[in-house]
Amino acid sequence: MIVELTPASIPSLVEKQRSLFGSGQTQSIEFRRTQLQRLKDAIVQYKDEIVKAAHADLGRPEFEAYFEIATIQEINVALKQLKTWMQPKRIRTSVDQFPAKAWVQPDPLGVVLIIGPWNYPFQLMMSPLVGAIAAGNCAILKPSEQAPHTAKVIAELIQSAFPPDYIAVMEGNATVSQALLAEKFDHIFFTGGTAIGRIVMQAAAKHLTPVTLELGGKSPCIVDMDVRLDYAAKRIAWGKFINAGQTCIAPDYLLVDRRIKSDLIELMKRSVDEFYGEDPAKSPDYGRIINQHHFQRLSTLLNNGECVLGGTVDPATRYIAPTILDRVSWDDPVMQEEIFGPILPVLEYDDLTDAIAKVNARPKPLALYFFSKDPQKQEKVLRSTSSGGVCLNDTVMQVGVNELPFGGVGESGMGRYHGRASFETFSHPKSVLKKSFWLDLDWRYAPYTAKRLQAIRNLVTK
Ligand code: NAD
Repeated sequence: MIVELTPASIPSLVEKQRSLFGSGQTQSIEFRRTQLQRLKDAIVQYKDEIVKAAHADLGRPEFEAYFEIATIQEINVALKQLKTWMQPKRIRTSVDQFPAKAWVQPDPLGVVLIIGPWNYPFQLMMSPLVGAIAAGNCAILKPSEQAPHTAKVIAELIQSAFPPDYIAVMEGNATVSQALLAEKFDHIFFTGGTAIGRIVMQAAAKHLTPVTLELGGKSPCIVDMDVRLDYAAKRIAWGKFINAGQTCIAPDYLLVDRRIKSDLIELMKRSVDEFYGEDPAKSPDYGRIINQHHFQRLSTLLNNGECVLGGTVDPATRYIAPTILDRVSWDDPVMQEEIFGPILPVLEYDDLTDAIAKVNARPKPLALYFFSKDPQKQEKVLRSTSSGGVCLNDTVMQVGVNELPFGGVGESGMGRYHGRASFETFSHPKSVLKKSFWLDLDWRYAPYTAKRLQAIRNLVTK
């Protein structure tokens, strides 16, 4: 039986967590390891419930639900690396400090708040939690109300593994989120849209609480003509249409060398057919749109450009077919905001420099994809664009490299996590200088004699 935490209990919950943190219990490596193992065991125990909830919330196939359960891999990395991560880092001291030692030691932050979205509703709660636990913090989780089945499973799983004065789940909508944000936390980790990201940052500013913002945006996918086209088509179609396009790092739009555009579109159509059959509505491997609001929003984008694949919908099941729109222009509505659904607009270019300029004229994206065998062009794209991350010759797979930091830049967010980066996000790198009593060099004390003045001149100007 789970005990429901109500918004009225938020202040006392934060207080209890603060008191537990203050006791120092969460700090030792043994404690952290035990809790990480406990979280791992609970995820394994609840895996069937997680799969069922992902299907109920998003029509997600079991295979794709396992992408979320893969958080276990992150726990494994943390269990293996924790000792190294916790190690203080020695810093050299200069002669004027003699005799002294200096180092940086990672300190837990305290009580942290983690707010998540609905699109990978399990993983995007658990993955930051791994970092929070590894770094020795207490945490309150606020899963998305738009994925209620998963939110319930998260609440049960966490309650089965941890007391609420250590890790707690507060279910609810924006009002609950706002009530949490009114409290003082030591860090806020938010995953969601850019608009709510701004609200979170404003609330955090009141308490001067640092934030990690994992936001979205329009991630471009540029395709040069020097590629293996059949592989490129498969990799793009897969990254775009998993979870029915509701992936923060899905390629949002295609920017293709004009000379290969029609061949690429034909091959992507073939890939979609191979993945989901002639009628994707009947495929057990194709997801659904999260709710009516997003279904309506996406439906209005289907008449942009020329529909060359899909374009069909079923409001009753919130189905939108995998859709490719050709002849889209930069001014079309589909190019104004993050699509976050199974609609792929295709634009073309003649010159890579122009394509890069178009990308750079827009807010910095979370991910940027570039397909090309040419190392010089790869280098050019890497050097002349700014995005949270880049994946060359594939889509979405960068998130699967557990120890590769993940995060946005500019409007796609701030801060990073996964692997060591998660541990660092939830730690404060505390600088320590330790002096000794066996000697006291007196060069810094008044009276500032000519000799001392000469000594400091020599020291600082050499
Ligand atoms: P959202 O911003 O609408 O909601 C996220 C969370 O904020 C939810 O828990 C919600 O309850 C809460 N919230 C909503 N309104 C609020 C308010 N006024 N005040 C305080 N909290 C509020 O995002 P979403 O629709 O759940 O998710 C989709 C977005 O998330 C997309 O833009 C996507 O790109 C982004 N996203 C980013 C990542 C990433 O890792 N960078 C991952 C997944 C999704």
